[in-house]
Amino acid sequence: ATVLAIETSCDETSVAIVKNREVLSNIVASQIALHQKYGGVVPEVASRQHVETVNEAIAEAVEQGGVSWSQIDAIAATCAPGLIGALLVGLSAGKTLAAYHNKPFLGIHHLEGHIYASYLSEPTLQPPFLCLLVSGGHTSAIAVRGCGEYELLGQTRDDAAGEAFDKVARLLNLGYPGGPIIDKLAQTGNPRAFPLPEGRISLPQGGYHPYDSSFSGLKTAVLRLVQKLEAEGEPLPVGDLAASFQATVAKALTKRAIACAVDYGFETIVVGGGVAANSGLRSHLQAAAGERGLRVLFPPLKYCTDNAAMIGCAAAQHWERGEQSSLDLPARSRLAVTEVGQLYR
Ligand code: ATP
Ligand code: MG
Ligand code: FE
Repeated sequence: ATVLAIETSCDETSVAIVKNREVLSNIVASQIALHQKYGGVVPEVASRQHVETVNEAIAEAVEQGGVSWSQIDAIAATCAPGLIGALLVGLSAGKTLAAYHNKPFLGIHHLEGHIYASYLSEPTLQPPFLCLLVSGGHTSAIAVRGCGEYELLGQTRDDAAGEAFDKVARLLNLGYPGGPIIDKLAQTGNPRAFPLPEGRISLPQGGYHPYDSSFSGLKTAVLRLVQKLEAEGEPLPVGDLAASFQATVAKALTKRAIACAVDYGFETIVVGGGVAANSGLRSHLQAAAGERGLRVLFPPLKYCTDNAAMIGCAAAQHWERGEQSSLDLPARSRLAVTEVGQLYR
């Protein structure tokens, strides 16, 4: 199927034309510069900017995609989870296009987009696989048994992995978003300079939860370390701090993903979300998976963070199953990925 997809769940206005797993166009208008001065995404500012940008992004995606409206089979838009005002902009635009051009409409769960981002570079990838979803709002191990058939096997108990990168970057005064900045700085430092706690979840019967993670303790440990180093009056070794923090996150995620894949018998781990772009995670997980004879796939860098191409790819999967959404479909700020069935009729 050829799908026009719209993504406005957070701070990127993105529109893509996707033909099954092939990206014909993918326009991403990032609002990062707009939110930078606030040190994070301001919801009201995001909604207004989506309104300003979405029509132009649609026009550009159609033009660059080189398709006519008659060649587009369906319209898709992210409907959950995310900032409600931001979601409503793309969802309304998508429903309007579907009604006007008389096409089926599909509401898409944002995390399903992240799961299927790897499809865009892997023409033969099929479930079952384990998805390690590591983004600004989620850190989840999801068993993917088919399109729409998901089971949550592990999650974070507090901060998400991307959130931890953003918070640590903020306390080091590095700017927003923190992930790419820390990644770059980490290349200049020693990952063994400072031992940091990985953050484990104790079980009542003893031992630790094998797949759940926790990053707020790690963030606090970095804060304490920074305070101690500052009290000593030396210039902060930001490269070493970034490298040590990143290596700790990469090891923690790798350990959990490998344990989960081995215990549940998955041969393939598919990584998704903004933190899938992280060079430390890529090399750690790749190496550990290799030792275990597991296959690990990362999306191309441009499809790790938010984009409409991955939403179009997820929509094409649902379209294949004969599913579509009602034009009454609401936007939802929260919705578990295991509940996507309720989006279709
Ligand atoms: P969600 O998908 O959970 O709703 P989101 O859409 O805001 O959240 P994404 O766009 O998937 O999140 O990812 C953004 C996050 O990824 C930010 O926290 C950012 O710091 C992080 N990130 C981006 N690039 C990197 C990188 N190279 N290393 C580590 N983190 C990164
Ligand atoms: Mg974003
Ligand atoms: Fe996202």
